[in-house]
Amino acid sequence: MARVSFPWIRPLWQQLSEASLAGTLAHGVGIEFQPELGSEQLLEQLSRLLLCQQPIKDSKAIRACGQCKQCLLYKAGTHPDILRVAPEPGKQLGVDAIRKVGAFVQQRSAQGGNKVIQVLQADAMTLAAANSLLKTLEEPPADTFLIVSAAQFSLLLPTVRSRLMMFPMPRPDTAMLRTWFAELAPESELTSAMLNYAQKRPLTALQLLREHQPLPQAMLDDLLCGTVQLPKDADAIAQLVKTILESLHLILRDYYERNALPEWATRFQSLPKERFAQAISDCYQAGIHLRNDLQGPGLNANLLTQRWLHDCRSQLTC
Ligand SMILES: [Zn+2]
Repeated sequence: MARVSFPWIRPLWQQLSEASLAGTLAHGVGIEFQPELGSEQLLEQLSRLLLCQQPIKDSKAIRACGQCKQCLLYKAGTHPDILRVAPEPGKQLGVDAIRKVGAFVQQRSAQGGNKVIQVLQADAMTLAAANSLLKTLEEPPADTFLIVSAAQFSLLLPTVRSRLMMFPMPRPDTAMLRTWFAELAPESELTSAMLNYAQKRPLTALQLLREHQPLPQAMLDDLLCGTVQLPKDADAIAQLVKTILESLHLILRDYYERNALPEWATRFQSLPKERFAQAISDCYQAGIHLRNDLQGPGLNANLLTQRWLHDCRSQLTC
């Protein structure tokens, strides 16, 4: 998807960019990893601003100029004063990668300006890596900024956390989302379910609306990723179960009618088609039981549904 702007991060950007210009930005900054909410753009925008020689400040915002030598090097991906470390997919972030950070911090800035280090998915650091990072965070040189990105700050060592100024990603409210969608997907029909979903995953919601895809695709993604969020009240849980069942039903319908899975259902699918369809069918059957159980009195809807979601996830992933 082409780059979009995230209006809900503007107040946070203002705070970060003003501190950067005023020279009061902390040398260790933690940004919550929430790509759906624009965290990656925020991280890059801040890195670019820290490197730019002639930042622009006008009535709208502060930003990197885009024209100076530093901005051009950044754009070309060849700026020598920025280092990004991230774990390999599915692996932990080890001490070797963090040692690179230590060495980079010791180097003099090649361009004479700031140095920026991005530590991505820092919550996947090993203990040794975290301890090594801590040493760097304890005495960062004046020209060096460490931006640490993690989905769950709570998984970082408390000593690492205490060295960072941490910024959770702001969430959009429904009014903001309505304006955003009106601009970016003007023809789409916004249901309250979609708006609810979009508060958590605005980018996916935007894509669904633009492609006129139903919400089920998103439900399935959440189911497979274990990121379904249960509402507090039992009626809302029952409604959510119903929505998930509808999405499973759509998959089964396609599979039985044309022996194929719908394209949207295969994005994260790791099992062979037949086994996946069988697993979907099993989850569906169990979900129908759950739906009926939830209509009875005196049951712990949250617990039962959590258990069902957990079972679905284990069946649908290998
Ligand atoms: Zn510049």
